Amino acid sequence: MRLMEEKILAEGKVLPGQILKVGSFLNQQIDTALLAQIGQEIARLYDGAGVSKVLTIESSGIAIAAAAGMAMGVPVVFAKKHKSSNVDGEVYTASVHSYTHNADYTIVVSSDYLRPEDKILLVDDFLANGKALMGLSELVVKAGATLAGAAIAIEKGFQGGGDALRAQGVRVESLAIIDAMDDNGITFRPQ
Ligand code: 5GP
Repeated sequence: MRLMEEKILAEGKVLPGQILKVGSFLNQQIDTALLAQIGQEIARLYDGAGVSKVLTIESSGIAIAAAAGMAMGVPVVFAKKHKSSNVDGEVYTASVHSYTHNADYTIVVSSDYLRPEDKILLVDDFLANGKALMGLSELVVKAGATLAGAAIAIEKGFQGGGDALRAQGVRVESLAIIDAMDDNGITFRPQ
């Protein structure tokens, strides 16, 4: 998606530890025109795939997942990062290692919202080592639902998570794939 690449080049900041900061348009302030186009592009990519629900992790995935869900006309579910008082009854959980925080956390979703008849599209803002997507896939498996694939705003291709998932047969669509980045610039994978 050319618009996403242009936005990353114009406003993304490469931080130490190979972290890309996109707070000006995705992670803190949200460019709503871009967000609407992200939703449309994800809907276009997964048109005809039979997606019944979008699944993400709070909090930075929610806006993108909501845009995708609105464009596809399906509900959006977000896994919570801790079991809180408003997640009760039967739950599915998975453990995720966070690259940005260098810590493990548990993701939780109520079994009311992931059903065996669902065909799930995973959505997130970033894909790096793939741990977040693996945790979400585990929730889909635990629910007995079907995985349609994943849609990601920005994949850091050099961290390998996306290609590892593709090698396992998971459909992964990323709107921009960064093959290299440093202080001197950002290189995108041709798509
Ligand atoms: P993974 O689990 O694929 O290693 O990392 C994906 C998760 O880590 C995403 O949910 C995202 O929130 C966070 N993340 C990973 N790399 C970056 C990055 O370069 N910038 C930002 N803003 N978040 C990142």
